[in-house]
Amino acid sequence: MNYLNLKKNIYLSNFTTWKIGGPAEWISEPTNTDEIKSLINWANNKEICCNIIGAGSNLLINDKGLKGLSLCMRKFKGATINKSSGIIEAYGGETLPNLARKAASAGLHGLEWAIGIPGTIGGAVVMNAGAQGNAISDYLESIQTLTLKGELRTLKAIDLDYSYRSSLLQEEKLIVLSARLKLKTGGEKAEIHRITNEHLNHRLTTQPYKAHTCGSVFRNPEPFKAAQLIEDLGLKGFRCGGAEISKIHSNFIINANKASSSDVQELINLIQKKVIDSYGILLKTEVKICGF
Ligand SMILES: Cc1cc2nc3c(=O)[nH]c(=O)nc-3n(C[C@H](O)[C@H](O)[C@H](O)COP(=O)(O)OP(=O)(O)OC[C@H]3O[C@@H](n4cnc5c(N)ncnc54)[C@H](O)[C@@H]3O)c2cc1C
Repeated sequence: MNYLNLKKNIYLSNFTTWKIGGPAEWISEPTNTDEIKSLINWANNKEICCNIIGAGSNLLINDKGLKGLSLCMRKFKGATINKSSGIIEAYGGETLPNLARKAASAGLHGLEWAIGIPGTIGGAVVMNAGAQGNAISDYLESIQTLTLKGELRTLKAIDLDYSYRSSLLQEEKLIVLSARLKLKTGGEKAEIHRITNEHLNHRLTTQPYKAHTCGSVFRNPEPFKAAQLIEDLGLKGFRCGGAEISKIHSNFIINANKASSSDVQELINLIQKKVIDSYGILLKTEVKICGF
């Protein structure tokens, strides 16, 4: 069993960008497909559930922790890039900022917007991560997945029912082992790096980028912006315990001072109540809430 690198009762706050989350009953950080297959087998034999964690940049995990096996994908990294075809094949734990930089260095256009999203490609294809009118589904050709029964399955992007921050992968739990993207070729490297840096600088000035957050907490209820609705209610800087609505971007909740998962949950509930009472709009969470 030790070859699976399984550990017990490790705090998941070490695995989320909010720095919140209680102990995982079991946790492992696989580095290749065979290890992932063996871990799924092990969990199935023990009849325990499996939680998949990418970079934990979109997860609110209960302080009580998670039962079963937490499969943390952040060490399952690597990508190959074909400059002439624009095809990138990336393992599930490769990060978006890394891919954006690698694409720019190869002269490939398309991922400039992804530089400031601190998630993995696995998390991005599940969440349909995006920014400035782009989304990962615009560039995705296919993914290779492992079912929770341990079967390999290749799926085309067109079959994943993509829309704003939504995909079929949020309904059916599959492990994203790798993603195949197609970017635009023939770009000027210096120009792609310049645009990429511009995207990063924009974030640094408009978001609490260095704080412990999970990015935007709520989906935008088209045609409105969640941040604007929250700001118009005068909620910037409002706190529940150690959790605070960012003064820089109202759709971000900061872990300002040892926030508990219930501090954040309470703040989410409060925002939802105030927005529905004032505008009749239910703000749906973009962050995934686990173990409540
Ligand atoms: C500062 C900051 C800025 C952000 N800006 C943006 C933004 O501009 N746009 C945007 O869309 N998001 C943004 N986010 C949110 C987040 O980074 C994205 O949603 C990202 O795609 C989540 O990836 P992750 O690897 O962290 O996934 P996690 O948060 O770890 O997981 C999210 C979901 O994906 C599943 N998952 C993760 N990896 C896999 C895998 N390999 N196989 C199967 N399921 C998997 C998890 O089970 C979970 O359901 C931001 C977050 C932060 C902290």
